[in-house]
Amino acid sequence: MAIDFTFPPDVEEARQHMRTFMDGEVRAAEDRLLAEDAGRADWRGALDGLRDEARRRGLWMPHMPAAWGGAGLGATALAAVSAEAAKTRFGPYVINCYAPDEGNMHTLLHWATDDQKDRYLKPMCEGTMRSCFAMTEPEVAGSDPTLMRTRAELHGDEWVINGHKWFISGARGASFAILLARTEDDPEVPQAATTAFIVDIPSPGFEIVRDVQTMAGGHNHCEIRIEDLRVPAANMLGERGLGHRLGQYRLGPARLAHCMRWLGQIEAALDMMVARATERYAHGSYLSEKQGIQWLISESAIELYQAKLMVLHAAYRIEHGLDFVTEVSMAKHHVANTLWQVIDRAVQVHGALGYSKDSPLSDMLLQARWSRFADGADEIHKWRVAEKVIDAWREDGTTRRATGDLPL
Ligand SMILES: Cc1cc2nc3c(=O)[nH]c(=O)nc-3n(C[C@H](O)[C@H](O)[C@H](O)COP(=O)(O)OP(=O)(O)OC[C@H]3O[C@@H](n4cnc5c(N)ncnc54)[C@H](O)[C@@H]3O)c2cc1C
Repeated sequence: MAIDFTFPPDVEEARQHMRTFMDGEVRAAEDRLLAEDAGRADWRGALDGLRDEARRRGLWMPHMPAAWGGAGLGATALAAVSAEAAKTRFGPYVINCYAPDEGNMHTLLHWATDDQKDRYLKPMCEGTMRSCFAMTEPEVAGSDPTLMRTRAELHGDEWVINGHKWFISGARGASFAILLARTEDDPEVPQAATTAFIVDIPSPGFEIVRDVQTMAGGHNHCEIRIEDLRVPAANMLGERGLGHRLGQYRLGPARLAHCMRWLGQIEAALDMMVARATERYAHGSYLSEKQGIQWLISESAIELYQAKLMVLHAAYRIEHGLDFVTEVSMAKHHVANTLWQVIDRAVQVHGALGYSKDSPLSDMLLQARWSRFADGADEIHKWRVAEKVIDAWREDGTTRRATGDLPL
């Protein structure tokens, strides 16, 4: 019987290690870190002690190969430890496995030259350098990167770049950006018009205009003006015209990495919902004894169970070199919506407390909102899934292959 829903002992051990570290050390430090304003551009110093401890415990960079100082976990094991780390607010930062650096590390590992790896990937892995990923522009739909307007032109051995970006997470305090710009006027396909560049920060012509204020406050998602920015030809990342492919290569596993962290957040919200329901008394019984509240709990549990299975299965497909795009799309859509639903239900069960800043739920809810449109909006994932389902029907006479290709 090949199907086994347990992790091998070493993965289970890594998961328990992560849980112990997060419960014992990171959660305990959360109030101090919040007071010191960690999570902003200059948070690195505040996390140093915990990061050293993560290294000592072998929990540093679970997503990177051992040769780069990471734990070298495969995608399924990564799902297990990432979900544990994300149950605390700073966990992913403490273990150096958070967006956008995690996706950027994968991108550099796969596409960078040896010299680029030495200059950018190595210090990221050592935890001394942060990065950002600059693709989205305010003037055109971020959902369709073929519309990108930022342009790069080759002048001798330098690229001269002009354009406008926004919502560039982590830009303030980053040492470099992976920036996408249009380089081709007449590409064979619209997806072959852009190229990726590594841009040192600060650089003349790369101006961080402001930290865009979101409904959840300011979280270092920056607007950037690019005027006559000069980038050496050696800083092109990957090949000319491969920007879109590089972005998609980065986003596939990165989307699932978001899902892994969201699982931790969903479980934390469900735990809070049940804890509150079992201690709050009204109208003759505890909330947990009322069917209306039990339904909120059971719906959340059912959706979280689905979410865990979908993430594990998509991770399994990545790990085994199988096509994973549709499964990641389905998982991303489901997990993002479950995140929103479960936190919202937890707020409901907490009443005024859930709406207040005395509970972490209000911040969690505001953060959760972006998960349904960033890294592929709900509608786009549904569109892509429908395409695959219709293709499978046309080619095989059945939709079976497009519903996870499971042996059922
Ligand atoms: C917190 C946060 C962090 C981010 N970090 C980064 C970052 O680090 N780097 C970066 O480059 N970008 C980043 N982004 C931007 C993000 O990638 C974009 O928000 C996303 O790609 C969507 O683009 P858009 O906001 O321009 O929305 P649009 O593309 O204008 O889409 C708006 C809405 O239109 C609808 N829609 C779009 N296309 C279709 C379609 N084909 N069919 C049906 N409906 C459709 C969807 O409902 C969608 O939500 C971040 C965004 C947020 C909120």
